[in-house]
Amino acid sequence: MKLPEHARFSTICIHAGQAPDPATGAIITPIYQTSTYVQEALGVHKGYEYARTQNPTRAALEANVAAIEHGRAAFAFASGMAAEGAVMTLLQSGDHVVVTDNTYGGTYRLFEQVLRKYGLDFTYVDTSSLDEIERAIRPSTKMLFLETPTNPVLRLTDLAGACQVAHRHGVFVAVDNTFASPYVQRPIGFGADLVVHSTTKFLNGHSDSVGGIVVAVRDDHIEWLRFVQNAEGAILGPMDAWLVLRGTKTLPIRMERHNANAMVLAEYLASHPKVAQVHYPGLPSHPQHELARRQMCGFGGLISFRVGSLERARAVLNGVELMALAESLGGVETLISHPATMTHASVPADRRQRLGITDDLIRISVGIEHVDDLRDDLAQALDRV
Ligand SMILES: *Cc1c(COP(=O)(O)O)cnc(C)c1O
Repeated sequence: MKLPEHARFSTICIHAGQAPDPATGAIITPIYQTSTYVQEALGVHKGYEYARTQNPTRAALEANVAAIEHGRAAFAFASGMAAEGAVMTLLQSGDHVVVTDNTYGGTYRLFEQVLRKYGLDFTYVDTSSLDEIERAIRPSTKMLFLETPTNPVLRLTDLAGACQVAHRHGVFVAVDNTFASPYVQRPIGFGADLVVHSTTKFLNGHSDSVGGIVVAVRDDHIEWLRFVQNAEGAILGPMDAWLVLRGTKTLPIRMERHNANAMVLAEYLASHPKVAQVHYPGLPSHPQHELARRQMCGFGGLISFRVGSLERARAVLNGVELMALAESLGGVETLISHPATMTHASVPADRRQRLGITDDLIRISVGIEHVDDLRDDLAQALDRV
């Protein structure tokens, strides 16, 4: 098995980083469930000494996702938040970061309640405006931290434009690409320096593992991330690395179906008399639809929509039968949630309002079931409103 030099995306997903197992020829990288490695003689070993530092299953996943995201190296962590935590150790006390205002709630909590204690400073702006990004940059700004599309109202940031603004000011760019997945967009191609994922979501795709990964391109970033992954030790275990590797093999076909199903449901909801507003980048009514067409391949598996009041939202959320009422996203099964009281409950109410996370907003992570069953389920739930 040799990966062709110009292999296409789905071929990369299946093969990158995974040679047949040298011990047996097993086509699938084994789960190297070990804590240490026997050395032949003092100072003579196979490059593996201790499993926090090196593990072949984790290394296979890291090489796989680095190739998928068009990066030069990747580092896998115990969760998406651990991956973000590692990225933030690239900074020093006194450094300033410009952040997408509607970033993932856990990111906001990490920045505000943990990292401020270490002298980092954060400014949250609507990064869909390149002017706002530029205005927020100060002499101490070191990093631009972007998320696009945002959760749950699916605002987009122009990745190429934002990277140009940041780089002009000597600021490096990290993108949380969890929501889109690398099938839908690959930020490094638009100039990003770092990509972060919660592998818990689309990369693993089967709702059975928690993990995170950072993809890097710059030598100084790679060197530091390799060091800090070992020094802090928040590594992804071999079993989870194996599960995510299994997941990335089917990422393209899963994403095609997520994209297609979400488009059908978004159109259905947009035409439904009981729905006040639908947020989905694939709809021509989305304010950044043109940008979505340029920047994304398909429009992703997340939809949110407003039904007019908390009571009506409750009727839909309690009325669905096939869709599961649950947090998280990116799995094969469809999940429905209420951002204001679930994923975004820790965001202060006035901030929620400003971000458009109203009490009548419902989010769906559209799975890959038959779309007619999903539409029927929404139809009967909306009938209860
Ligand atoms: C889930 C998520 C995270 C955090 O990942 P965990 O694996 O839950 O730690 C970060 N960013 C986004 C966009 C997410 O959806």
